[in-house]
Amino acid sequence: MLRYKLFPEKPFAHIFRLQLEIKEPQDSGQIISLANWIPGSYLVRNFAKHIVSMSASSDDGTIKVKKLDKNHWQCEPCSGVLLLEYEVYAFDLSVRSAYLSDERAFFNGSSVFVKVHGFEGEPCEIEVYQPPKSQAKSHWKIATTLEKLNESKTHSTFFAPNYSHLIDHPVEMADYQSFDFSVSGVPHQMVLTGEHNTDIDRLTADLELICQHHVDFFGNTAPFNRYLFLALVMTKGFGGLEHADSTSLICSREDLQDSHIEEPTSNYTRFISLCCHEYFHAWWVKKLRPSVFLKPSLDQEAYTEQLWIFEGFTSYYDELALLRVKILSPDSYLNLFAKTVTRVCSGSGRLKQSIAESSFDAWTKFYQQDENAPNAIVSYYGKGALLAFVLDVEIRKTTKDTVTLDDVLRYAYIHYSDSGLEDDDMANIVKKLTQQSFDAFFEKYLYGVDELPLLEAFGYVGVDCQFDLNAKDLIAFGVRVTKDNGSSKITQVLDDGCAQAAGLFVGDVIIAVDDVKVAHESLVSLINKSASGAVLKFTITRDQLMKEVLVKLSFNNKSHCTLSLMNDLDARTKKRQKQWFYGAAK
Ligand SMILES: [Zn+2]
Repeated sequence: MLRYKLFPEKPFAHIFRLQLEIKEPQDSGQIISLANWIPGSYLVRNFAKHIVSMSASSDDGTIKVKKLDKNHWQCEPCSGVLLLEYEVYAFDLSVRSAYLSDERAFFNGSSVFVKVHGFEGEPCEIEVYQPPKSQAKSHWKIATTLEKLNESKTHSTFFAPNYSHLIDHPVEMADYQSFDFSVSGVPHQMVLTGEHNTDIDRLTADLELICQHHVDFFGNTAPFNRYLFLALVMTKGFGGLEHADSTSLICSREDLQDSHIEEPTSNYTRFISLCCHEYFHAWWVKKLRPSVFLKPSLDQEAYTEQLWIFEGFTSYYDELALLRVKILSPDSYLNLFAKTVTRVCSGSGRLKQSIAESSFDAWTKFYQQDENAPNAIVSYYGKGALLAFVLDVEIRKTTKDTVTLDDVLRYAYIHYSDSGLEDDDMANIVKKLTQQSFDAFFEKYLYGVDELPLLEAFGYVGVDCQFDLNAKDLIAFGVRVTKDNGSSKITQVLDDGCAQAAGLFVGDVIIAVDDVKVAHESLVSLINKSASGAVLKFTITRDQLMKEVLVKLSFNNKSHCTLSLMNDLDARTKKRQKQWFYGAAK
């Protein structure tokens, strides 16, 4: 048994102190390490950089600790119990590492608990202490899916059967609000930390519907005995990270709806769709996962082509499920879907990088996007969701609506959860269930960069898909801008737009058009109401120097998508649409 003790010792300095007791350290000198990345977030983050001090002792007295590389240490050989003590700086207000203040503590084990080499399979006991009274505003409650052994006034004790379990159960400590509900007999809880004024009844009812949908979707089985949503409510913020029995979420106060109204607001929809997304992951990436994620080394990148399956499909179902449980109307669902189509189609990166490549290069490209991202890469979330939809329709077409993508997911989940998914398994599963080869389909749309046949796919389910110019942004002109001292600063220049052809750069601040000063708020309408072919004189500052750039207008990026229900559908299409919207009749 390894014994960890965690003390939120200096909330004002954001320092956790940790103690670790290793009964029988390795004879050659115990090696320990900390993760460089956290599963679910594909970027090397070097969590060990936040360890500010480390010392060790044993029966022999003080033991030397030598740093081997950026995240490994070795203690000198010693007799008796080895006691390790170290401090971790924790001030990351995200779901990915750790945070400590006078109001709350949050940590992922991967940021605070070192791995004891040779003892990865050893059970762990974890004592989590209360903060010092002088630096904390109240007694903190503790929310986690780690198994609780006991609780006292000073600390709570938890158990983890091994190290990989220990670091997949985040912990929240605060004076939070929580509410419980049950799904197919399995206890669920949501914890909300931070100021908010939420309609808890509505949120509970909606979460119940969503969770029941996913449990039913995967054959009325849940891969957990209890589930916990940990949500931090901030003034601005958004994000989520999936874990085996829980998820860590960050949302904005405005994402939480404070009164009962008929249609959910777009902010509230964004939040429950995030809950829906992370909860889907409990099956789809935590239980069934790429084989390289079964026992990944957290020292270096774990490359996979399959994020389009795990993030793309999840992104398809995180909105479709809201329609299926009738939280969203068909019209609001299609509006949401159209935004994904617009996002994917407005960047020419989709014609250069396949989503298999996007997945593989997530570590250096998707997670490290620069200003050229729309011209160079494609999102395995967004295009993955569109590919899921097109694949879903192709499967329905091929099998005369007897098989759907839902069946593919269920089959994969049941048959591949133990072995993990290899890169070509998905194509084989689709082939097995449809009795048709989809090799050409995957070659074009997964490994290739062919445009997805969206119009045909939407037509099959009775949805009209139109593309036009968007008068509300400058995508057709070829830039994205942000407000900068009242003017507009260019943040992205899109390939093939007239802005790029004329020589406008990222970082340029647009001061005037045709010698008239232009405020940020008026720029979009000023440009979009001008006729194609007209020449505008842009006065810009670049590196503090004034310049003039003549732009001959042409608006050619027709990427703004509108989806609407077709009228006068024949009975077969109507039936297909209903099946797609609401799943097979039970
Ligand atoms: Zn996800």
